[in-house]
Amino acid sequence: MSRFRGILRQAAAAASTRNGRRLPWFAIGLSLPLFSLGFLAPAAGPAYQDALRLDLVLSELTPVFTLPLLFNSSDLVKAGEFGHPDISVDGSRAIRVEIRRGDTLERIFRREGLDTAQLGALLAPAAARENLRILHPGDELRMRHDGPTLLAISRKLDTFRTLEITREGEGFDARVTELSYETRAARTHGEIRSSLFGAAAKAGIADSTIMKLAGIFASQIDFVLDLREGDSFAVVYEEKWHDGEKLEEGEILAAEFINQGKAHRAVRYQAADGHVGYYTPDGLSLRKAFVRVPLAFSRISSDFNLSRKHPILNRIRAHTGVDYAAPTGTPIRAPGDGKVAFSGRKGGYGNAIILEHGNGITTLYGHLSRFAKGINAGRRVSQGDIIGYVGATGLATGPHLHYEYRVNGKYMNPRTVKLPEGSTPLAAGERERFREMSAPILQQLDDGGDMLANSQPDKASASQRT
Ligand SMILES: [Zn+2]
Repeated sequence: MSRFRGILRQAAAAASTRNGRRLPWFAIGLSLPLFSLGFLAPAAGPAYQDALRLDLVLSELTPVFTLPLLFNSSDLVKAGEFGHPDISVDGSRAIRVEIRRGDTLERIFRREGLDTAQLGALLAPAAARENLRILHPGDELRMRHDGPTLLAISRKLDTFRTLEITREGEGFDARVTELSYETRAARTHGEIRSSLFGAAAKAGIADSTIMKLAGIFASQIDFVLDLREGDSFAVVYEEKWHDGEKLEEGEILAAEFINQGKAHRAVRYQAADGHVGYYTPDGLSLRKAFVRVPLAFSRISSDFNLSRKHPILNRIRAHTGVDYAAPTGTPIRAPGDGKVAFSGRKGGYGNAIILEHGNGITTLYGHLSRFAKGINAGRRVSQGDIIGYVGATGLATGPHLHYEYRVNGKYMNPRTVKLPEGSTPLAAGERERFREMSAPILQQLDDGGDMLANSQPDKASASQRT
C-alpha cells in the first residue's frame, strides 16, 4: 500500500507543473514509443514484465484525479499522517486540511469553522490569488487559526516551492518561498535481469529517470521488442539535494545502453542558442524524426501480411498495414512532421487520413471515429500532433487503427521498416564547444561503478541555486 501511495505521489508530482496546474496523465512527457510500452505486454510475450509494470504506472496515474476516493482525510488520520492539531502557547491551532473533491476555499473555511469574511483580504495579494485559485483534491493546506480568525496558511506547490501567507493586521502578506538545493551529478549502472524497472530500482534510480533513459534511446532501441536479459546501462544524472536529503532526480547528463551487445551512448548538450538535446559522442542528434507507433494501443490485432485472408471479405487479400487495437477515441498522433494529403471517407478504410512526410514516405490511418480539428488536405502537421481518433468506420470488426507506411507507393511493414533517422549533425562552429563540454561528462560515464555520488557526494560537480 505504501508503495502504491509512493507511486501516486510521484504521479501527482509529475502531473503538477511549476505553476501547480495539472496536466492530463498522457501529457507527462512520455514519448510515444514509451506509451506503447505499457500496452504491449500481451503481444510481447510473458518474458517482458516491464511492459506490465509500466502499464501499472500508467493506470495508476489516472487515479490522481480521484485521490479523495482513495484516501479521505480520516484514512490519513488513521495512518498517522495527519496528527492531532497542535495547539501553541498563544492559543492558536495548527491544522492540516486535505482538499476534497468540489472544495472551494469558502467551503473549507466553513468546514473548519473559520470566518468567511476574511476571504477577500486573504485573496488580495497576487501571490495568494494565483496559488489558491485552483484547488486539487488530495492536496494539503496547512493553516493556523485562532478561533474563527485565520493567522496563516501554507501550501506546498511542488518539491521546491511553498506558498506562505501570514496575517498582517487586517490584511495578509503572501509570498512563495523557494527551497535552495544543490545539484550533484551521480553515476549508477545496472543490468537487466527480469525487468527494466527492476534494474532501475536495484541501481537506485527513480522510475522517472529510467523512463527518461528509454526516451533518450527510443530512436535506437525498441524497448518493447529489443530488450534482452543481460542488457546493461550506465547513467550520469542530476540529483537535487537539500539539507542532506535527496529530494529529486533531475536531468540525465549522459547515458549508455548496451542492447544485445551493441552500445548506444548519449550526452546532453545545450547549444550556444540555448537548444537542449541529446547527442551521440560524435555530435549527432538523437532526436527521432519518426516514431514507430502513432498511438497507445492495447495489442496488434492484425499484422502486416501481403497474403492473408480478409476477416470480413473471407478471401485472400493482402493486409497492407498493421492493425493496432485500441478503444474508440484513442488519439492518433503524427509519427513525424508532414503534410495532410487526404482526409475524408475512403471506401473500406472508412474515415481515413494520408500524411506525406517527404522523401517519398506516406502514412495512412484508417477506420477513424473522427478527425482532429483542422486536419484538412494541405495542412502541415508536426510530430506528436493529434490528427484523429480511433474508431471502427469502414470495413472493421472492432475499434482499431489500420496503419500503413509506404515508400514511393510501395507498401512497407510499419513494424520493421527502417525509419528516417533525421540525425542532424551539430553546426561546424559548435563542434569544438560540444567536445569540450561533453568530454568530462563522458569521462564520468566511463569511470566505472565506484565513482558514485553516494560515496563522494561533495566532490561531485555541484552548483548552488537559491
Ligand atoms: Zn487493417
